[in-house]
Amino acid sequence: MEVDYIIVGLGLAGLAFTKELEKNNKSFLVYEDNSQNSSIVAAGIYNPVILKRFTPVWNAIEQLEIALPFYTELEKKFNTKYNYPVDIYRIFKSVEEQNNWFIACEKPLLSNYMTPKIITKHFEGIIASYGFGKLTNTGRIDTKTLLVDYKNYLTERNLLINESFEYNDLKINECNVEYKNVKASKVIFCEGFGLVKNPFFNYLPIQEAKGELITIHATNLNVDFLIKAAVFVLPLGKNYFKVGATFNWKDKTTLPTEEGKQELITKLESFINVPYTIVEHTAGIRPTVKDRRPLVGFHPKYKNLAILNGLGTRGVMIAPIAAKALYNNLEKEIVLDKEISIDRFQQLCLDQD
Ligand SMILES: Cc1cc2nc3c(=O)[nH]c(=O)nc-3n(C[C@H](O)[C@H](O)[C@H](O)COP(=O)(O)OP(=O)(O)OC[C@H]3O[C@@H](n4cnc5c(N)ncnc54)[C@H](O)[C@@H]3O)c2cc1C
Repeated sequence: MEVDYIIVGLGLAGLAFTKELEKNNKSFLVYEDNSQNSSIVAAGIYNPVILKRFTPVWNAIEQLEIALPFYTELEKKFNTKYNYPVDIYRIFKSVEEQNNWFIACEKPLLSNYMTPKIITKHFEGIIASYGFGKLTNTGRIDTKTLLVDYKNYLTERNLLINESFEYNDLKINECNVEYKNVKASKVIFCEGFGLVKNPFFNYLPIQEAKGELITIHATNLNVDFLIKAAVFVLPLGKNYFKVGATFNWKDKTTLPTEEGKQELITKLESFINVPYTIVEHTAGIRPTVKDRRPLVGFHPKYKNLAILNGLGTRGVMIAPIAAKALYNNLEKEIVLDKEISIDRFQQLCLDQD
């Protein structure tokens, strides 16, 4: 069998690159072994404002310009809703925060998203003595449903192999690669935190940022906006809410823990005072990079091996634009932005030898 590309991993990164290939009529084969699940458990929130300091997220506007049409195209392709616009209500902790909010509202990049007033309305079950700041044009992507649909779509077309990609079986030639019975011009590695097992790219400084989430059912919490305080409370409909997320930089497993659950409960109950039941508890590892920028580009030595990774805490917004940049780099020789190119870590590759 001969294809243009082999893709390793079908999370948001693999999906975004595969979609780019389909759009450009390139042939491909995807390997997926379910060893990571970051894209499946993700809350899927897209929001261009850092809610701690009220500053813009790096390149957020450019990312959203590509990401929102990307998800709309997928909604049309599968005739399914994935994008749920949802406002964000940030609970203020002090008068100082209220003042900082007004200052940030005037910044040109943020004025389309931040509303320059304080919402003082009382909502049953929410403790917010200093009121809320409201963000609009934000939302969530139902990444789990999207990935299930995309996997089914590829499976029906015999384009998805449900097995682990074995790095030792890859033969790298001058102009192509061979993997088992498949010949391809290039392999694109999109393994998320699975990157640590990849002997070609594990020189890159990926860090595990494990996150845990709970889903709660709260009959007396009747809000259709995301509440952001010590944790976020994201409405899913019918009084179900996703609550998250924790950050753990040491635990390399994708298993939910009692410690993570207790942390979420304590933080949730610092601003929510209605009864609720926990109906689900999940965990995953965000593939995060030391400098908080994605990992994109081809290998310093092997030009037919490339990577799309390091989406960190914002895969929903970054994956589509980073996939496009990688495709344009590989197929049209359009130079990658220095900030995302793995060339910035070239020395680490040389040091490994
Ligand atoms: C708790 C939590 C909440 C989050 N919330 C948000 C959010 O609200 N908004 C947002 O934008 N982002 C969020 N994220 C981050 C987001 O999930 C990630 O940025 C993104 O999903 C990473 O996508 P990926 O495709 O790079 O990695 P992954 O989703 O981890 O996908 C990698 C895939 O590669 C496969 N794989 C690995 N090795 C191999 C191999 N050798 N052979 C075959 N297959 C392999 C894995 O099984 C996996 O399916 C959250 C993450 C977590 C954990």
